[in-house]
Amino acid sequence: MKTAMACMVLALTAVTGFSVGQAFAAGTGRAQTIIRNGGQPAIRGPARFFTGSVRIDPLYPAGNGMRSSGGSVTFEPGARSNWHIHPVGQVLIITSGVGRTHEWGKTIRELRPGDVVICPAGVKHWHGAKADSWFSHIAVGVPGEDISNEWLEPVTDEEYAKLK
Ligand code: MN
Repeated sequence: MKTAMACMVLALTAVTGFSVGQAFAAGTGRAQTIIRNGGQPAIRGPARFFTGSVRIDPLYPAGNGMRSSGGSVTFEPGARSNWHIHPVGQVLIITSGVGRTHEWGKTIRELRPGDVVICPAGVKHWHGAKADSWFSHIAVGVPGEDISNEWLEPVTDEEYAKLK
């Protein structure tokens, strides 16, 4: 149970900027740590943050002087995040499928594997899959004790349909 909770916090860190606390004290800073593929349980993207089915695979935690953490996020066709704002910013590295990113008040933009999105602090936006495609990205964020994402309203089905 404790492990599941730690993984949940860890996975959410990449997406939400939640504090990761002392997760992964394993790295001593004096030797490499290899986190094996599949070695960390995935979690379901919480319904309060996402529309549709979203899988979050934690990749690496912040720690030992490294401020960023990373996770892989996979959206089923049509799934997307709520509108949200990152307090420190976020980098998205697209790994598969076709997706969308949308800044408040601007034109929606298509994302494909190999694309990199640098989202500054304070920008209201959402990201997710195209209606007819799966979509995965690696999300790199900066967790902290006193910072967390500002999660806002969902992207409604009507709004999402208009944005195709
Ligand atoms: Mn974001």
